[in-house]
Amino acid sequence: MPDALMFDPRDTALRPVADPATPSDESDAADKRAFNKLQKRLRRQVGNAIIDYGMIHEGDRVMVCLSGGKDSYTLLEILRNLQRNAPVNFSLVAVNLDQKQPGFPEHVLPEYLDKLDVEYHILERDTYSVVKEKTPEGKTTCALCSRLRRGSLYGFAEEIGATKVALGHHREDILETLFLNMFFGGSLKAMPPKLLSDDGKNMVIRPLAYCREADIAEFARRMAFPIIPCNLCGSQPNLQRQVVKEMLAEWETSHPGRLESMFKAVTNVAPSQLADRELFDFAGLEEKQARLNADRIALHNEP
Ligand code: SF4
Repeated sequence: MPDALMFDPRDTALRPVADPATPSDESDAADKRAFNKLQKRLRRQVGNAIIDYGMIHEGDRVMVCLSGGKDSYTLLEILRNLQRNAPVNFSLVAVNLDQKQPGFPEHVLPEYLDKLDVEYHILERDTYSVVKEKTPEGKTTCALCSRLRRGSLYGFAEEIGATKVALGHHREDILETLFLNMFFGGSLKAMPPKLLSDDGKNMVIRPLAYCREADIAEFARRMAFPIIPCNLCGSQPNLQRQVVKEMLAEWETSHPGRLESMFKAVTNVAPSQLADRELFDFAGLEEKQARLNADRIALHNEP
């Protein structure tokens, strides 16, 4: 058995590391039960994703990229929670990139992180000015901004000796990317749960890959995370992504379970039923057929 982290998904004992927001009615047992169920589900899904993709191993130093959005707060919280019960030792370090957007509330994350028993760093890089300077007026700034952010975070991960870089992308992010690539990129690709960066220096993991965005949003609301909006820069949201997001949400409403099925499809690819000649040897099918026929004849002629 490799030393990959083996969370037991059956271990659903709750050990919350922070108090959830106090429900308006403390006596509302059903409400508490619903929250416990939600927390267990998220823990189980994250644990399963970690096991399925061998995301965390003994001795890993996992850098959690904390943007101040609901997804990254949830990721940090669930990983801290799992860390307490994990059969292997790994450490966590939270890193926020202060991109120097005007109005960025610098105090929010340090105040939040000071209360947790977790190592953290606030990395200051003025990517905001670079993005403003390089992006033509009226164009969306998110692509360049994300690229610069990724570069800064990956470089910092190396500096602090992080062996894994954990990002807070969830199931819907993965599906949206799949459709965006199909609609506008002409390729069938999404966002993998585990990825080696192009230069081979960083191992990126997405432990929330199995989690529903709605669950994360509800968890973040109940935990009362101090959310920092991503649009302080004044950028328009990526309109294409927004359209795809709405399309998926509409499908899920009219056909519940469709997103689950689509995500399953991403994990269950049949190259022979697609048309990528790099992935499947279509030209070699005749040879395969001849081999199979020869085997059949040999079997038939056996005494
Ligand atoms: S909304 Fe602003 S901060 Fe967020 S990714 Fe886009 S450009 Fe960057």
